[in-house]
Amino acid sequence: MVIFYRRLPKFEYIKPESQNMLFEILSDNKNCSVYAGGTDLIPKLKKRLIKPPDVLIDLKGLNELDYIKIEGGTLKIGALSTIYSVATSKIVIEKFNILSQAAKSIAAFQIQNRGTIVGNICNAVPSADSAPALLVLNAKLNIKKKDGSRKVNIDEFFIGPNKTVLDKDEIVTEVEISEVPSSFKGIYYKLSTRGKMDLATVGVAVLLGSDNGRFSDIRIGLGAVAPTPIRAKRAEELLKGEKINKELINNAARIASDESSPIDDHRASATYRKIMVETLVKRAICRLTEVG
Ligand SMILES: Cc1cc2nc3c(=O)[nH]c(=O)nc-3n(C[C@H](O)[C@H](O)[C@H](O)COP(=O)(O)OP(=O)(O)OC[C@H]3O[C@@H](n4cnc5c(N)ncnc54)[C@H](O)[C@@H]3O)c2cc1C
Repeated sequence: MVIFYRRLPKFEYIKPESQNMLFEILSDNKNCSVYAGGTDLIPKLKKRLIKPPDVLIDLKGLNELDYIKIEGGTLKIGALSTIYSVATSKIVIEKFNILSQAAKSIAAFQIQNRGTIVGNICNAVPSADSAPALLVLNAKLNIKKKDGSRKVNIDEFFIGPNKTVLDKDEIVTEVEISEVPSSFKGIYYKLSTRGKMDLATVGVAVLLGSDNGRFSDIRIGLGAVAPTPIRAKRAEELLKGEKINKELINNAARIASDESSPIDDHRASATYRKIMVETLVKRAICRLTEVG
């Protein structure tokens, strides 16, 4: 496939220096788009994959949104935190390791240093690498507009390919993740043709809590195998509270595959994706539980 890059279409460019200014502009009812790193939005505008906005709003003037911090055990990631800063954050590596693994799997350093985790989520493609990890971490998104704010669980945020619950006048200001018990272990597997230099063909995140040889908690997130990133809830239910054993893990992996609804595209067939969901879910749980 040949892709012709063109010049950017014409638009007004604004870089607000305060959130008040940003929300004033957004509430004006103009045809606006916001961007952070621009690694998704700018190529789409150049390729004319989306309707150009009248006003393009650069969020990078809002320095106060660039942070990764812990408050009362809760991890808070500001909307301008880059993928690289999340991947290499000491707090994230030590306490929310699966998110660091997912961030590290995203593209090359150039993209990691420019793109943001919040941009990865707001772009809302099914293959977004941070999404399965954020799903199993039960992340919440803090959303703001001129006259208010709301908190949305990540499993309610995506409503379709490239579609989220965000209204035109809203932005995500922060990702919030509650403390995870230190005994929990997690793995993110990204299947792709060219490693991290390609989008995920299948993404599988598994977070496991075990107690006395039983699954005390198990969360399975899947990417690139449904119209949105999803949790494999039926597979999780099968395992929760049960004694850890190979047969149960095999059954759960099969159910996770049944819960996926992938499409055929140039990266892989739907059939292959389903097989790989089963394989990777099984591999992840076996590795975390040390079941042979
Ligand atoms: C060469 C290349 C390789 C890539 N590889 C991968 C990969 O391996 N895995 C992967 O998952 N992605 C990949 N991507 C996609 C992209 O880099 C990521 O999705 C990145 O995280 C996007 O972040 P950004 O800040 O650049 O988003 P932007 O391009 O700035 O924005 C993306 C979308 O989110 C919206 N948005 C951004 N911030 C906010 C906010 N705070 N509130 C509301 N809406 C907002 C924008 O309006 C836009 O619709 C790749 C891209 C390129 C160009």
